[in-house]
Amino acid sequence: MTRTVNRGFAVKMYWRQSNVGLWHCYEREPGTRDYPQPRFESLCGRSMLTKVGGQQRSRPPVEQRCGLCDSREIHAMGANESLPASKQRS
Ligand SMILES: [Zn+2]
Repeated sequence: MTRTVNRGFAVKMYWRQSNVGLWHCYEREPGTRDYPQPRFESLCGRSMLTKVGGQQRSRPPVEQRCGLCDSREIHAMGANESLPASKQRS
């Protein structure tokens, strides 16, 4: 059976550049009772944002990505290798 990307829910992951230059892939976490604000946690667990600043979901070149986030995104998306970088629109 082939896994497809669209499994009936929207995958909301956002690549954002951290202050050390690497891009992490952030996934929206719903609030909890102890911490009711929704937040964005990187797939590698090393970084957290309270907002991602917009809806753009462009994907940076592989060499600029946090390796752990990249491999976890691959797993989450059911891909076999790094997903291509988004085309930059001028
Ligand atoms: Zn990361």
